Amino acid sequence: MKPVLIVGAGPAGLSAAQALSAVGQRCILVEKEATLGGAPILSGYAKLVPSGEWAKDAIGGMVSRVEGNSLVSIHKSSRVEEFSGAPGDFKVRLSSGKNLEAGAAILTTGFTHFDSVNKPEWGFGTFPDVVTTTQVEQMISSGKGIRCPSDGRKPQRVAILLCVGSRDRQIGREWCSKICCTVSCNIAMEIREELPDCHVYIYYMDIRTYGLYETKYYWQSQEEFKVKYIKARIAEVTSNGEKLIVKGEDTLVKRPITIPFDMVVHAIGMDPNVENKSIAGVFGVKLQEHGHIAKGQSYASLGETSRPGVFVAGAATGPETIDDSIAQGKAAAMAAFALVHQKAPVAA
Ligand SMILES: Cc1cc2nc3c(=O)[nH]c(=O)nc-3n(C[C@H](O)[C@H](O)[C@H](O)COP(=O)(O)OP(=O)(O)OC[C@H]3O[C@@H](n4cnc5c(N)ncnc54)[C@H](O)[C@@H]3O)c2cc1C
Ligand code: SF4
Repeated sequence: MKPVLIVGAGPAGLSAAQALSAVGQRCILVEKEATLGGAPILSGYAKLVPSGEWAKDAIGGMVSRVEGNSLVSIHKSSRVEEFSGAPGDFKVRLSSGKNLEAGAAILTTGFTHFDSVNKPEWGFGTFPDVVTTTQVEQMISSGKGIRCPSDGRKPQRVAILLCVGSRDRQIGREWCSKICCTVSCNIAMEIREELPDCHVYIYYMDIRTYGLYETKYYWQSQEEFKVKYIKARIAEVTSNGEKLIVKGEDTLVKRPITIPFDMVVHAIGMDPNVENKSIAGVFGVKLQEHGHIAKGQSYASLGETSRPGVFVAGAATGPETIDDSIAQGKAAAMAAFALVHQKAPVAA
């Protein structure tokens, strides 16, 4: 039986590799970076929602299980440059020059963090104390704690601005990134826990702590941690030389509001992987309208792409949580396994 090619070693790809090896199927895992683990490891996330586990333990554990698995052949710092053939018999050429064969492929190439310089009026890139949620995650996971990058002081007032690079037609990003409301509520509670005297405000259009996250994150952050929520439309983030100034309109009372802060956090969204056009070219798969890898639309073909034998899972298909990326990785693994064993692909 030919191995299954998995491209991208984030939560989705690692889960696909684990699932395939669990049923005795060989696979080839190709990752462009020198480290496995995807965004949670590469971007240094702290405690994950909803499990509360540290990313380095939870996703790091997935990495160790795959790295120690003799059925998974790992190619780090590599890309797939050529991919040809038919289901059950694909030929693969890696950037290292290595030629391989695979029976099926799973694309788990994930997303790219929104770059806040594309929202210049909100101060990122101009004022050092305007940071992103990933930078705050790194402050926490590194153990250095929440500090203003400009001078290392503990902030007394922090604003978290939601939907930066999501739900914003002006900059061509209509989609909701799904997890950033919950992640921001979690970060707000972590800041309050570390710095009990610090006031934390969340500026929002809507709060989308969907499903069971409403109680654990939205209500808990207000009731237990005294995080304040302002429904607002933000105009700009400036500075008076001493403090950052967030200007906007409180959309509940329809009045302008101007509030000073020490630190402003952009809750950045999930863009399509910047490499998706070239990935689509190499693998001969279609992209959907926003540039994510298009997946089958019927329930029977959710993990399929437009090319038979090539499957897709996780944030490569659009904003996804880690839990859902892991579940999709397993579903795609099952479909790929069925294909290489010449049975009909199983519905996701
Ligand atoms: C600030 C922030 C915090 C978040 N916190 C949480 C949280 O607490 N809980 C939660 O459920 N979700 C969280 N998320 C979402 C989480 O990051 C995603 O759900 C998850 O990373 C998706 O996993 P994935 O494997 O699909 O993609 P990724 O994690 O993006 O992994 C994709 C992998 O593919 C590799 N790759 C990309 N292109 C290629 C290529 N051409 N060739 C080879 N390899 C390639 C990448 O290097 C990467 O290793 C957060 C998101 C953000 C923005
Ligand atoms: S999850 Fe929340 S912050 Fe993220 S895009 Fe959706 S509404 Fe905005």
